[in-house]
Amino acid sequence: WSSNIKPDRGVNVEVILRCRPLNDDEKQLKLPVVISCNEGKGEVSVVQNTAYKQIDKTFSFDKVFGPTSRQKELFDEAISPIVNEVLEGYNCTIFAYGQTGTGKTYTMEGGRVGEVESGEFPSDVGIIPRAVQQILDVLEARNEEYSMKVTFLELYNEDIMDLLAPDESLNGPDDKSRKPIALMEDGRGGVFIRGLEQEVVCTADGIYKILEKGSAKRHTADSLLNMQSSRSHTIFSITIHVKESSSNGEELMKCGKLNLVDLAGSENVVRSGAKEYMISVVFICQGRVREAGEINKSLLTLGRVINALVEHSGHVPYRDSKLTRLLRDSLGGNTKTCIIATVSPSIHSLEETLNTLDYAHRAK
Ligand code: ADP
Ligand code: MG
Repeated sequence: WSSNIKPDRGVNVEVILRCRPLNDDEKQLKLPVVISCNEGKGEVSVVQNTAYKQIDKTFSFDKVFGPTSRQKELFDEAISPIVNEVLEGYNCTIFAYGQTGTGKTYTMEGGRVGEVESGEFPSDVGIIPRAVQQILDVLEARNEEYSMKVTFLELYNEDIMDLLAPDESLNGPDDKSRKPIALMEDGRGGVFIRGLEQEVVCTADGIYKILEKGSAKRHTADSLLNMQSSRSHTIFSITIHVKESSSNGEELMKCGKLNLVDLAGSENVVRSGAKEYMISVVFICQGRVREAGEINKSLLTLGRVINALVEHSGHVPYRDSKLTRLLRDSLGGNTKTCIIATVSPSIHSLEETLNTLDYAHRAK
């Protein structure tokens, strides 16, 4: 088997904005909406006019999905083409970036689903099951020999936890299975994680069990460490291998990888006016990020890495955080990156929404 050579298409970063609808509490409180989405123009405007404050700013993105957008619509328009790239043997990464409570997990995993009817997905199903289904559909139709494996890990305070680790290692509240696992250098500039659990996926239904298992692990941690889920990143990786025969009878192994990253809440990194924190100022290319006491190294480094890639600056600081070390083979070079920035439409979140729009808009 030999690896196929892929044409180099350079750095490709796409930034999408998704605004969730008002939730029931916000509706009940009759909170004003300060965001308006122009999906056709790919623009988001923030407007607030009060006696004290006047804001009127517009940000543009590659695609904008407003509060009434459906999961299927976002998947078909923005994600499905990326899954096709993975099927062609490229490594791609999709990030969900935004304040806690704005729909990162909803977008990536979706609402909890009950019985899955064959055929159509329930409307709340998110990107991960839909991506798995698309991969299965395409590969089944091609009639080639293939395998699909997934891993699911959590990164908290630069520690890696395996969310698919077998349950036998769960030892009650002081849970030894939450012992971090090591990231090793493979000696060729890459990294690997020894002992990371891999699950083989043969049906789209199987993915729900895997997601549930992973989320349950994340949940256990929640009661141990308050608010951990908003401060941790999860990386769900799908690796596919396809055996192809070329015309001269040579066998080729095509390998593609899709990383689906549910990032820590952005309020953990960009905080403005938080006087109780010691605020240091970090410059990220043309923009400024205010870094508070509760910094999230991986989130900051990710911003720097993406900026360095987009700007074609020589040094890309992959090594500065575990997140970027883990994703190195799928960021920059011959890969595709998509950032889905999520925001709330309500006035309560205005400050963080502006931070998110600023970060994501700059990440382009
Ligand atoms: P995050 O992961 O960013 O903290 P969640 O995905 O948990 O946020 O979303 C918070 C709540 O809002 C959840 O109850 C979720 O179901 C709901 N929600 C988020 N985005 C949407 C959306 N686009 N449409 C409907 N409900 C949404
Ligand atoms: Mg979440």
